[in-house]
Amino acid sequence: MAPNGTNTAAPAASGDHMLTGAVTIQVNVFIFGLIGLIILFRLPGLIGFLRSNSGRPFLQTFGRNPPTPGNGGMTSNPVSAVSSLDLDYSQKTEKKIVVHDVHRPSYPGSQCPPHVPSTPKLLDPLLKLLHARVVPGYSALQIAILMNYTYILLYGAFRMSNPFTDNTRSAWLSVSQLPLIFALAQKSSILGTLLGYGYETLNYVHRYAGRLSILAGNIHSIYYIYKWTNAGTFIANISRPENAWGLVLLLAMDLLYVFSTEFWRRKAYNVFFWTHTIGVIVLFPAACLHRPALQPYAFACVGLYGLDRLLRAFKSSIATAKVTALPEMDMACLEIPTIISGWRAGQHVRLRILSGRMGLFGWAETHPFTIASAAGANDGLVLLCKRAGDWTGRLVDLSKELDSKVEGQGRLKVWIEGPFGGPSRMVFASFSAAVLIVGGSGITFGLSTVEELLAKDHNNQSRLKYIELVWVVPNPGSMSPLVPLFTSLIQQSESTVLKISVYYTRALTERVPVFEKMNATPCTPVAIFHPNLTLSPGRPNFKSILNKAVDSALGVSTVTGKDAFWVSGLAVGICGPLSLGEQVVKSVGDIDSATRYRVGGVEVHEE
Ligand SMILES: Cc1cc2nc3c(=O)[nH]c(=O)nc-3n(C[C@H](O)[C@H](O)[C@H](O)COP(=O)(O)OP(=O)(O)OC[C@H]3O[C@@H](n4cnc5c(N)ncnc54)[C@H](O)[C@@H]3O)c2cc1C
Repeated sequence: MAPNGTNTAAPAASGDHMLTGAVTIQVNVFIFGLIGLIILFRLPGLIGFLRSNSGRPFLQTFGRNPPTPGNGGMTSNPVSAVSSLDLDYSQKTEKKIVVHDVHRPSYPGSQCPPHVPSTPKLLDPLLKLLHARVVPGYSALQIAILMNYTYILLYGAFRMSNPFTDNTRSAWLSVSQLPLIFALAQKSSILGTLLGYGYETLNYVHRYAGRLSILAGNIHSIYYIYKWTNAGTFIANISRPENAWGLVLLLAMDLLYVFSTEFWRRKAYNVFFWTHTIGVIVLFPAACLHRPALQPYAFACVGLYGLDRLLRAFKSSIATAKVTALPEMDMACLEIPTIISGWRAGQHVRLRILSGRMGLFGWAETHPFTIASAAGANDGLVLLCKRAGDWTGRLVDLSKELDSKVEGQGRLKVWIEGPFGGPSRMVFASFSAAVLIVGGSGITFGLSTVEELLAKDHNNQSRLKYIELVWVVPNPGSMSPLVPLFTSLIQQSESTVLKISVYYTRALTERVPVFEKMNATPCTPVAIFHPNLTLSPGRPNFKSILNKAVDSALGVSTVTGKDAFWVSGLAVGICGPLSLGEQVVKSVGDIDSATRYRVGGVEVHEE
């Protein structure tokens, strides 16, 4: 303590400083060393992905005359699909789900993507254990990653030190983690690209690392607040500019934590968004002015934040969207014909509606929506936005209002940023069979994936022989607007068998009209226009759906002669509520090891 009774962060002996510096570096070497190992482990997947030629990372905008689509003229817009529908299909020759009978040469000259499993086959039993859910929303692997991160930080905190008596160690540990936390928060994530995961998949590590960093920052601050208060010198100390900035840094960090909890993200997303933005902006100068030695970390964060913003600006475009209402689904359909490629199925964009009719600040809000069309589709980029709260509610109401004036003529200026996320390195077309299980508005993921896979099949770029899309909705009526699109997709499937199974969970007491003369009947599954399009009551039996897909994939390998190709696994895509994901992951885990081995592995992508 200084003779005048004031105490800045009392400089520890230079030996202690050097030890703290060395331990902080060790901690980051451990963490980035582990990240480097994961990147190396996943390198074969990256090579396989690059060889699969799976699309560009930037949306391609064209003027009035977009190039001819390369997907066999498909449409993903539920509204325009009606015109291309051939409802008499059921009376024509039916395609049967006999996978053995349909096969296509995969070599030589085939453009089928190489299948690179995410892990060597030998490690599959271990992977099965690691993917098992241990707490809601978290697999054993995710928990193991978080635990290892915790151990490394505990090593940093206790290595020849005690966080309750050593006032600087916790501060250095806290600040030294900020670059990693910022890198994990980037929407155009460079770290995610290297690791092969989208930002939303890595977000749980961002949240956890952020919380530990804030905890360490608080331990550091409480030490001084307690000490100065006891000595009666709090006011004198906190009046010193560097300490005042330390307090600002603490408040910014606590603001980031308090308003990023699930309560705020769910109940008032805007509060979370704005407090996060303000907290991050305040954090940079506060860190630099608190201690100049923190500048390298603060500058690293500024660099990562600025780079992300720059990349996002490059990924943004302003366009005119055609807006239609889908009242049966309580959704608005936005179609942007001038954006025709530059994304992969399952990726999402961030949408801003540039219209005063979205409310006073509605035009300033951005919301994520999964792209419902495949790149190259006739209608360009299609988004299906379901009413969930105020903003989406206003959009659905506006679409109805525009439709009520002149049907199909509604137009809105939109700001589109993206694409982001998606299945990263998982190439669905490189598997023998795929099952897509979606709930509610997760159908956007299912639609774009099916459409992309059918287009690849059309261009001889897919190994898939069997695709099943399972959609779980509360009411059978939700299916009505999509019946034409579903039927048209089934009609367009060539050598791949496409099955679409819709399940409704609400019990019916009477028949409910679904489309034209088709009805949903209580307790009985019905085929709608085509045997491969079914509507069934109750929850799907995921086990039997997966078993059927495995059988179909294995059927492929029985083909002999020069057209034969090896069975290359089952891909499972999930998009929907957490509970749906948990049930599907559990059913995937129940597939025994021998079957997994025979089928070439089972891999899951969860949106
Ligand atoms: C990656 C991703 C893809 C999505 N794709 C679709 C889709 O294709 N179709 C569809 O209908 N819905 C989709 N959603 C959900 C959609 O983004 C929300 O329903 C919408 O943002 C709700 O906004 P609101 O103000 O109307 O509702 P609110 O009442 O404000 O929020 C309802 C829920 O949406 C969440 N939310 C609100 N704003 C945002 C935001 N800016 N970013 C992330 N979450 C937010 C809240 O946490 C809350 O849980 C997707 C969400 C994500 C994260």
